[in-house]
This record gives sequence, C-alpha cells and structure tokens, in this order.
Amino acid sequence: MKRGKRLLSVLLLFVMIVTMAACGTEKDTKKNETKATPTASAPTEETKKPSEAVTVTPTNEATPTPTDEPTPTLTPTSTPTPTVEPWPAKSCDILFPERELYHYDMDLQLDPENRTVGGHVVFTFYNDSEESWNELCLRDYSSLFIDAKTAGYDPKQYTPNGALTEILNVSDSRNEGALDVERDKDVSVVWLKLKTPLAPGEKMTLSYDFSAKIPTVSDRYGVYDNVYNVTNFYPILAEYDKNGWSHEGFINCGECFYSEVSNYDVRLTVPKGFLVATTGTESDKKEDGDKVVYTLKAPCVRDFVFSASDQFVVHEADYDGVHVKLMYNKKLDSEIIWSVDSPIKIDMSDAVAATMEAAKDSLAAFGEALGRYPYDELDIVIAKIDAGGMEYPNMIIITDEEIYPIGVFDYSDDMQGDKEPDATDFTPSFVQLTTCVAHEIGHQWFMGIVGSNSGMEPWLDESITSYTELIYEEYIWAKRGKTDKPISLLRHSRQTTDLCDVTQLKYMMQRGMIPLNQSYYEFKEDSDYISAIYQEGQTTLYQMEEILGHDEFQSVLREYVRRNAFTNSTTARFFEVLFEYAGHDNADLNKLIDNMFDLDRIK
Ligand SMILES: [Zn+2]
Repeated sequence: MKRGKRLLSVLLLFVMIVTMAACGTEKDTKKNETKATPTASAPTEETKKPSEAVTVTPTNEATPTPTDEPTPTLTPTSTPTPTVEPWPAKSCDILFPERELYHYDMDLQLDPENRTVGGHVVFTFYNDSEESWNELCLRDYSSLFIDAKTAGYDPKQYTPNGALTEILNVSDSRNEGALDVERDKDVSVVWLKLKTPLAPGEKMTLSYDFSAKIPTVSDRYGVYDNVYNVTNFYPILAEYDKNGWSHEGFINCGECFYSEVSNYDVRLTVPKGFLVATTGTESDKKEDGDKVVYTLKAPCVRDFVFSASDQFVVHEADYDGVHVKLMYNKKLDSEIIWSVDSPIKIDMSDAVAATMEAAKDSLAAFGEALGRYPYDELDIVIAKIDAGGMEYPNMIIITDEEIYPIGVFDYSDDMQGDKEPDATDFTPSFVQLTTCVAHEIGHQWFMGIVGSNSGMEPWLDESITSYTELIYEEYIWAKRGKTDKPISLLRHSRQTTDLCDVTQLKYMMQRGMIPLNQSYYEFKEDSDYISAIYQEGQTTLYQMEEILGHDEFQSVLREYVRRNAFTNSTTARFFEVLFEYAGHDNADLNKLIDNMFDLDRIK
C-alpha cells in the first residue's frame, strides 16, 4: 500500500525541483506513503534449483548451501565451484511450484442493491505444518466494518455501515454435521473446532456459505460512486506458522493480510452491465437473465479480489505476454485534469496513457531485475480509496486523486530576467501517479510472489517494494537515453544520506524507528512507521546496492525471489541470501546492517 498525502508531496516536490533546478538538473519526484501489517513468520520449504541460471522457482528439492565460509567475491558465477550453482540471470522466468497447492472453488454473487457479496466456497487444503490442527482459524476482515473504530476509521469521518459476515453450513469433508463458528472479541478472527484433528500432511475440504456486507466507504473495501472494491471479503484460512495461527490485529494504515498461495476457480455473478477487474483471468462470460457470470481462473495467488461497476470504462494492452486492463469510472473521462492558467489542457486520456506506460515500464524493469511476471494478466483500477494505492494479487487499485498532474517548476526563463514565476512556469507531470503505479506493481513480487507477514515484518513487504520504485526510476531514466544515475536517487546515496550518522541514529532510536525489522505494532506512531519502513528502508536497500554493486545486489534480490517464490518469507531468509552472496566480512555492509537492523531477533 502506498498512502498518499498529496499536498505534502506536491510541496516536497516543489522544494525538490527548486533544489534540483539549482543543481541544473532534471525534474523528478517523490512521495510519501504508509502501510502496515500484522503477524508472525512462517516456515517454508526452501528451494533451490540445481542449475540453469535462467530458470527460477521453488521446488521441493533440497538446497545445497554453497558454503559457510565468508565469500568475499560478489560474483559467484565468476569463480564456479561445484557447490555453488549459478544464480538467476536477469529476466529469468519465475515458474509456478510443482507442489500441490491449496484450492478455493467459489461461486460468488455481488448484489449491489443489498450491498452484499457472498456465495458458496469449497476449499481443499492440507496441514502443511508439523503439528496436528485441532481447530482452524479463518480471517473475516469484512466484519470489522460493522463499526468505524474496528475498521480503523475516525467515527466522525466515516460510517462504514457494514455488518457481521454470516458464515453458514460449515462442513468438514471428513465428518458429518456442521462445524460451530466462534468469533474472538476481534470479530475478524473466526475459529472452527474440528471434530477430527487434521494431522500433518492430511488433506480435507472445508465448505461454507457466507454473506458479507460491503461498507459504504471510498476505500480498498467498500462502495463509492458506484464502484465496488471487493477485497479481503470472504473468510480465508489464516496462516499457520511457528507461532501457531496468525491472527494479529487489523491495520487500516497498512496490511495484515497473510495467507497461503492457492489456486482459485471462481464463478462471479454480477448484474448485467457490470464490468469487473479481478485477480486471475476470465475464461468465460455468460449472460443469465439480468445477470452476467464471469468464470475466472487464478493460479498460484494468495487471495482473490475484484472491483465491479456499471460505470467502468476499460483500456487494454499487452506487454510482453501480460494482458493489462485499466478500469475507472467513466465520469473521469469528462474531466479536464490539468487547469491552472496554462495553454496545456490535459484530460483523462493523458492519465490513462501515463498509467499504461508506467505499467509497461514496471513489468519490464521488474521483470529484468527480479524475474519476469509469471501471470497472464494485471488489472489496474482507478477509484477513490483512502491511500495512494493498494496491491492485490494480479490487481492494483490507484486512488483517483493520483491522476491529477503535479506542477514541475521550470525556472529557466525566469532566471534570466526579473519576471516572477507564475502558473505558466509549471509543467504538468504524472510522476506521482507513475511512481504509485510502479510501487503497487512492485508489490506483485513482494507480497504477491514472495509473501511475508507484513504486520510483523513490514520491511520485507514495504521497504523492498519501495526500493523497486528506484529500479523503475533507473529503468525509465535509461529509457530516456541517460547514462548517469537519476538525480532523485542521489538523496538515497551514501554520498548524501549517512545512515551511520550518530545524531540521525539517535533520533531514530528515540522515535523507535529502528530496527527496521520490527513489527508494525512496535512503532509508536504511524508517521514513524511510515518514515522508517518506506523511506529509511528504501534508502537502506539502496545503500546496500551501492555497497555491493548495482547488478550484484539485484542478483541477490533475484535469488531471494527464486528461493522464496510462492512461499511466505522471513527476515532470516533475506539475510541468508545476502550473506551468502556478500560474505560476513564486508565492513561497510555490516555497519549499515548493524545500524538499521537487529539480527538478534532472527536468531
Ligand atoms: Zn506498498
């Protein structure tokens, strides 16, 4: 997620542009954001594939660890030893795992009149832990919207009008009779007591009916202006990790969504005239009276979400085998989105072009740096939400506030005379929109492909995704024919930002902003969390890149993705790959890590 405070961003941008202008450089920008998520860390099958540099992915094969010795060289492939396999090459493929995945089969109905979404779910899964399960934990986030407070809203601002989700006819394929449904005080935590414990490795099918109320809020889950954002809406199996069933508290400022990669088969019924953006790909569409039934397949994803509206317009394109769909409320088409006293008129078609271009560039940049996007489709919804953007598997939502260009100050003509700057000196720029799009698409790798408990270890999710913004910036910079580094990256550089500065460290310690590998719940304020996880985390990762080298660090990230694709990762796993590559004797790297992380936590 990327929380936007647009006004602040614009001001920051202005200051930055002026500063850059003073340095005689280009325009560019940056942001601010937010986010969070709860839970603990999970176990997972490690994976290592015995050879080809170009292929990726987890299998169940054992993983020979190259060596415990410090590895001073940063290019494993340059000094091949029998125990070290080549690491994934740029633009490698990310293959779906061969292991059996959980499977959700869902018949869903969206009922706009009653503001409900519900249906029948048949969920087949197995106990992937080493402990017997006497009960199952489902997360039912929709029920939190029964009350503004539990949904994380200011009651003076929002009345979500939600309701407790009805969960009925819950059955275990192995026993007769329905299972009882119990809720914690935190109504999003639902327990099902099993009549027969589920042994490690044992499979079962859970069936249930549910009906959830869609809140009337302009947010990632809610209906506003005839656009239904239907996300985290069905009761989903919680993640079972070394701490048991994860059921940390909901975070409005970020995410607490933590689940297993599964295959989804969905029939989604909506009223005729409604278009949908979804996780997965549509394989069929049939009219049934005054309804339309979309048949969707979503392999290897952590969740299923959709947005639906009878007001949507759609733009589509294909980039390197990925079908990209962009949807938004058609009323935006009639807006002039750049005014000021400028001869330049910008409308929604320009924002659409900028968004599609950013999607194409993000897929290309991240595909090269991290491994190619492994899915057939990516949907982008522009709709009003209470954040800059929000990520879901195969689908992102960008708030409609991001479509408005920001003004980039062009000082050149004013510097030569006495003329005061005026509105005509501002050139409209979509940099905030495109950075937000890149950020949310970056989450397709860090959250989507490599999962994590983003409440308990949010840096694995948001800091790494914020770093992908820099990958995107470099990509588009090079695309413009530049051979140097983008000026905006300088502020993350060790040349300008000293993460070892004692005063700065002291400040961060006092604010509780470090270590970065702490949970969302440990931060005192959301603002500290945002500064630490999005900004300091982004800078920290960039400085790791500077220390190790650009290609070397991205090689580390590709290997991290390869080993942890379609599992839930942990901080320990990140550092395992990093140290394997960099060794333990890199003084600069060690100092940076010592300052920003607490590795005792992962021992
Ligand atoms: Zn994010």
